[in-house]
Formats: sequence, structure tokens, C-alpha cells
Amino acid sequence: MADIVIIGAGPAGMSAAIYARRAGMETVVFEGNMYGGQIVNTPEVENYPAIQKISGFDFAENLYNQMKDLGAKVKFEPVVAIEGDAETGFTVRSEYSSEHAKAVIIATGAKNRHIGIENEERLTGHGISYCATCDGAFFKGKEVAVFGGGNTAVEDALYLANLASKVYLVHRRNQFRAEETLVNSAKSNPVIETVTPAIVTGLKGDSKLTAIAVSDVSTGRERMIDVDALFIAIGQIPAAAPFANIVDQQDGYIVAGEDCKTSAKGIFVAGDGRTKSVRQLTTAAADGAVAALAACEFARSLS
Ligand code: NAP
Repeated sequence: MADIVIIGAGPAGMSAAIYARRAGMETVVFEGNMYGGQIVNTPEVENYPAIQKISGFDFAENLYNQMKDLGAKVKFEPVVAIEGDAETGFTVRSEYSSEHAKAVIIATGAKNRHIGIENEERLTGHGISYCATCDGAFFKGKEVAVFGGGNTAVEDALYLANLASKVYLVHRRNQFRAEETLVNSAKSNPVIETVTPAIVTGLKGDSKLTAIAVSDVSTGRERMIDVDALFIAIGQIPAAAPFANIVDQQDGYIVAGEDCKTSAKGIFVAGDGRTKSVRQLTTAAADGAVAALAACEFARSLS
């Protein structure tokens, strides 16, 4: 039996694993995709204390190596359920195997929100992308669009402006949600054209995306913009559905305060999937530390 099973190898889960291993806990980490979580989609991280600039991918890789070097066991398998309780111990089931643990930390974060319009799924990978850093290089010298108004969208637009010949930044309000510095950089970049207040209402293309329909929110007028790619960055939705039967949730987020303790004794939550107001890399790492130390204390109390 492991002391602690961590579900999710994003910044929160990997930070938790580092703290758990340094406390001498047998630690197993499940990850359903690639390690790193959403941060791998961020071209440049410039607001993590003491690191002036690092790519999201490098940040994730550093965390992963640190966690592995400390001896965390990693299983790349999607978790489907947590069973058991604090008294009998927990069983964390993936699609392929299961692990028993004294304590569990859920750090599954959130996944990309889709627009939910026709052709979105069909053209994903054929001009539609949710990750500018992963797919931007395919559109060197082409015209592309980014949809969204948060930090991710504006950072994506700035990143793509170094590759593409033109970047349309489409956002539903005139005011951007992203940090002022980023917005100012985007607005002064000659390659970027902001299209506001507007939403993407249509996607055209047979084998690949050729154009997007953009509707002006105030007038309702629709126009077509020819683009080779659309990068969708309209936020995230929590990825905690498999745990709805075991921990209290609110709008899909797992309910817990700053102590990261869920409604179920012995189960903790860290990162963007927790009910909280600030979802940043720094707060994800902080949650990882808090949840891990609480889980360590809980696991020790059973021995
Ligand atoms: P976000 O901050 O939630 O922004 C989502 C954007 O999409 C908002 O502008 C929102 O519009 C828009 N939106 C939401 N639903 C929409 C819909 N159905 N149709 C059209 N537009 C929609 O998401 P994010 O930019 O991915 O950032 C997530 C978190 O990560 C944030 O806390 C962000 O600060 C953080 N982050 C940090 C960094 C960094 O620190 N370097 C980088 C990336 C992200 P409204 O503004 O009108 O609501």
C-alpha cells in the first residue's frame, strides 16, 4: 500500500509529490495525459517568483525530473474512480490498474473549454488547436486567429505574432481579462489585430480549417475571416467528474478551503480543481505543498 496516491501530474500534483517524497512517503502519481497540465500550453512564464522567464514546457519538465529524482512512482493511466474510506484505506482505480493508499490528493485541475459549435471537433488537429505552443509552428507565415481574452489567449497571440503573418485576437468584450502588460504588448504589436466585442460562430473547411465566422456582439453582424488556424483559449472547466460520488463539489470544482481538505477524510485537493478565487502557477504549487503536508500528517496518524 502506498502512503499517498496523487491524481494528476500538473504543477499542483507534482509539487505535492515533491513534498510527499521529501517527507519519506511512498508516493504514486497517476497522470492521464502528458505531465505538466495546462502550463505546457503557456509559451513564457514570467510571473513565477525567482524565475524571470521560462517556457511552460521547461517548467513542467523541471518539475517532473525533480519529482522523479526524489523517487515518486508515476503511472500514465487515467483514473476512473476512488473507492474506500479513511478507515479501510482508499483504492484508486485507473483504466488499467489500481493502487491502494492511506491518503489521496486529487490534482486533476481543469481541461480546455470548447466553443461547442459545428465542426469544432472534426477540425481539431486540422487547423483548430487548444495549444499555441504545441501547434503554432505549423502556421509559420500564415494568417491565424486566437479566441479568448484571458492571459492564455493574449500570451498565445503574442507567441503566434512571432511566427504568423497575421493574428486576429477575437474576444467577446472590449475589455480584456488578461494582465494589462500583456494587453498593451498585444495592442502595440503590428501583427495582431483585435476583433472585439466578437465571438466565433462558425468554422469553415472540409479537410482543414479555411475560415472562421465572427459575429459582432453589439450589432450581431457576422463576417468571415480567412485563416489557416484558430487557437481556442476561452478558459477551462474542472476535470473532477470521476470523483463526484466521493467528495463534495460546486459547479464541478472540489469544495475545500486553503487547508485543501475535502469533505472526505483522507482525501485532499490541490490546484485549479479546488474552489478558490486565484488560479495561478504559484497558487497551484502552494496547494501542492499544503495538500501534501496535510496528507503526510493524515497518513502518519494511521501508522
Ligand atoms: P480565463 O482567465 O478564465 O479567461 C478565459 C477567457 O475566455 C475570458 O476572457 C473569457 O471572457 C473568455 N470566455 C470564457 N468562456 C467563453 C465562451 N464560452 N465564449 C467566448 N469567450 C469565453 O482563462 P485562461 O486565460 O486560460 O487563464 C486561466 C488561468 O490561468 C487564469 O487565472 C490566468 O490568469 C492563468 N494563467 C496565467 C498565466 C501566467 O501567469 N503566465 C498564463 C496563462 C494563464 P470574459 O473575460 O468575458 O469572461
